[in-house]
Amino acid sequence: MQQVRSWKAQKVIERLSQKINRQILLSLEACVHCGLCTDQCHYVLANPDDVTYAPAYKADQIRKFFKAHLDWTGRAFPWWVGARSLYTDQELEDLKDTVFGKCTNCRRCSLACPMGVDMATFNRMARGLLSWVGVMPEGVAVVAKDQWEIGNQMGVLKEDYLETLKWMEEELQEEYHDPAIRIPVDQPDCNVVYAINPEPVTYHDSCNNARSCGMFEEPRELLRLVCLDFREMYPNRAENYCCTGGGGAMSMSEYAPRRLKSARVKAEQLRATGAKIVVTSCHNCVDGLFDLIRHYKLDMQVKLLVSLVANALVAPVRVPVPAARRPLEGRTILVIDDEPDVRLYLSKIFAEQGCEVMDAPDANQAMRAIKSRKPDLITLDLVLPRKTGEKLYWELRRDPLYRDLPVVVVSGYASIESPRIDFHGFLREKGLPDPEGFIEKPVDVEKLLETVRCALQDSRRAQG
Ligand code: SF4
Ligand code: SF4
Repeated sequence: MQQVRSWKAQKVIERLSQKINRQILLSLEACVHCGLCTDQCHYVLANPDDVTYAPAYKADQIRKFFKAHLDWTGRAFPWWVGARSLYTDQELEDLKDTVFGKCTNCRRCSLACPMGVDMATFNRMARGLLSWVGVMPEGVAVVAKDQWEIGNQMGVLKEDYLETLKWMEEELQEEYHDPAIRIPVDQPDCNVVYAINPEPVTYHDSCNNARSCGMFEEPRELLRLVCLDFREMYPNRAENYCCTGGGGAMSMSEYAPRRLKSARVKAEQLRATGAKIVVTSCHNCVDGLFDLIRHYKLDMQVKLLVSLVANALVAPVRVPVPAARRPLEGRTILVIDDEPDVRLYLSKIFAEQGCEVMDAPDANQAMRAIKSRKPDLITLDLVLPRKTGEKLYWELRRDPLYRDLPVVVVSGYASIESPRIDFHGFLREKGLPDPEGFIEKPVDVEKLLETVRCALQDSRRAQG
């Protein structure tokens, strides 16, 4: 009996032939299953006994339906070449788990392949086919939409970016008591003065800029100009390991534990350098490295190459910054938000202020974190999976242990009464006090820090 194919599987098969190009075709045809690529993959190194992480196995999940439809060997001897078509939505979900959740498209396996198989080319194609029928992690859909509509995955508008620069310019003028300080934008021939960073620095070659585009020496030339103690990590350049946050991995919260487990080899690489700063040229690598540094408790910071260069620039007059400029230093803050990008963003803001940061993607994990170590303050998103932020707030306010824990609501629905969430109505109905602060997304960093600072001050006063 002929097997029935789901509508989505049918669409994927129909679109497959339009997506095959020469490069993909060669990579799909050439594998001889020699296994030389296997231990090049950071997922394999973290899961040595699980064959489903091996590059050739992952490739075969795509190759089998290619063979079934577009290769004569698959039509003539399907059992021999492992050809099998896609039929059900569950098979599409399984494929999603492989192509999104078990590969960051880092291409490290391709370096070892004697046949020139390029895993990333057809893994990307498979992601495209699945996205075409709406089978993809939600986080990927969100960042792809921002990238498409706004031009960057963080959803930052050009006007907002220029406004932030203006705000930084005013801060600098205030800090250095010099109203003439300017941050020039798109102005040629500006003079710069720089100071060399004395701390040990290492460099992470990002998979896309380095392995795929060959940009190896340019960042090192810059680093030699702005730091005194540059240390290579090994392996480096084309053979460097992925930050493990590539290929959209940072947007897929469902795969975070798997990603962090696979990051062990990267953490060992970083630790071995003894560096205090790891520099990279890719914004996405910053997020991936920041997350793994925290997870593996490495004593180092991650910075963008451009930040290291910017930090080396000096104004003519240096005014010492008083310690009081970091009033949050040493405070513990729990960030609760289901969006990994937002968690990371807020965590970075607080970490830069010298705070200890914990985070949680949902209310249950937040409660466990609070019970294991009571923070000084929490930031709370209202839209959380399963148990909402409102419910968590209600539970905290009812509990004598946590009643006084300051809460700053950070949400797209923080201060407005939307049809989706009427938080004020909820507070009125339950007879609950207002939280210590409301911050609306997108977050205004200055306002957030000021709100948190006031909330902590008030709570200290209340405790006498
Ligand atoms: S591209 Fe990278 S993550 Fe994907 S299979 Fe190859 S080594 Fe592993
Ligand atoms: S090294 Fe190349 S040919 Fe060998 S299993 Fe891996 S992809 Fe296939």
